[in-house]
Amino acid sequence: MRPENLRVTLPAVIALGGNLGDREATLRDAVADLARTDGIIVDAVSSLYETDALKPDGVDLSAPAYLNAVILVRSALQPLELLDVLHTVEKAHDRVRVEHWGDRTLDLDIITFAGLEYHDDALTLPHPRAFERAFVLAPWHEIQPNATLPGHGPITPLLAATYESPRLYSRWER
Ligand code: AMP
Repeated sequence: MRPENLRVTLPAVIALGGNLGDREATLRDAVADLARTDGIIVDAVSSLYETDALKPDGVDLSAPAYLNAVILVRSALQPLELLDVLHTVEKAHDRVRVEHWGDRTLDLDIITFAGLEYHDDALTLPHPRAFERAFVLAPWHEIQPNATLPGHGPITPLLAATYESPRLYSRWER
């Protein structure tokens, strides 16, 4: 490799979810979109998990269930640049934002970025609700069992403390 092509990358964890349309195809397409983005290297992809929709008042069995997955990436992009890419990929999959906790075709969140703790209007790191979300912790634990969430510690006891149980839906096949 030529020296001018060397790029510094940092590890990040991204969560994917969706509960409308062909959920599995959407998540697979989103991972493919991210993998071909300049500055993002996808190192690992979890299985797909299914979880009942969570609304502010609790589980909503009348809403379509979510499929969720987590990927481990290396990013040459800054956190806000990475967030921009996630928003572009969400838009490309016709994400319709009906309400804050509403049903959606595709939701992409940065869970951690290089162990940073950061907060501004656009981005909070780590993701503020990741520590209590089984649909993030279960797929993440599958591919990185020794991971820690900055400010919260190892994810194994965090996952054990959650109430929901995401169901294994399908394994990832490239
Ligand atoms: P939602 O899709 O409802 O989870 O919220 C999306 C909004 O949350 C976006 O407009 C982001 O600017 C903001 N946000 C704050 N922190 C994060 C994060 N760690 N990952 C993704 N979106 C974030």
